[in-house]
Amino acid sequence: MPAALRAVQADLTTLAVDAIVNAANSSLLGGGGVDGAIHRAAGPQLLDACRLLGGCQTGDAKLTPGYRLPAHFVIHTVGPVWHGGDHGEPELLTSCYRRSIEVAAENGIQTLAFPGISTGVYGYPKAPAARIAVATVRATVPAFPLIREVIFCCHSAADLALYQALLAGADS
Ligand code: ADP
Repeated sequence: MPAALRAVQADLTTLAVDAIVNAANSSLLGGGGVDGAIHRAAGPQLLDACRLLGGCQTGDAKLTPGYRLPAHFVIHTVGPVWHGGDHGEPELLTSCYRRSIEVAAENGIQTLAFPGISTGVYGYPKAPAARIAVATVRATVPAFPLIREVIFCCHSAADLALYQALLAGADS
């Protein structure tokens, strides 16, 4: 069975999936936005675990437990800061989605949920970011049959509509 891809409008920290993906910064030592919400919901042990990871390169991903979250794990990935689009941003954002799925599969994760990486403080425009998210997940998950479900967790109704339109299309 191919993995199910779907979009929901929700607070990522409430989802009871095997892993949620965090749009972190390269220090992995906490920030605002979804990162702040994840650390608040997971509790202080998450920061202790992140300290041991020694940071994370843009485009890469690292795993911790989820502690008090309903999700068992958090996959921390570092998206690119938007500098106009010709500074490698699309390739780095693609890498975030691909590496997060690889790290999930390496750890036996079957269900995972992504936020719109880089589309908050990091300023990546929402529509091209969503196209990359959907296209990269579609291209990557077939190699990892253990992964059953990938959720695109949208913060706003407008984001949800964007993802639903992409998921309804044959390709993006
Ligand atoms: P970045 O620094 O990578 O841009 P942000 O956390 O600022 O990360 O924003 C990434 C995306 O996460 C934005 O689209 C924002 O609307 C969304 N977001 C913020 N908080 C939550 C949350 N609790 N659940 C789901 N999405 C969230």
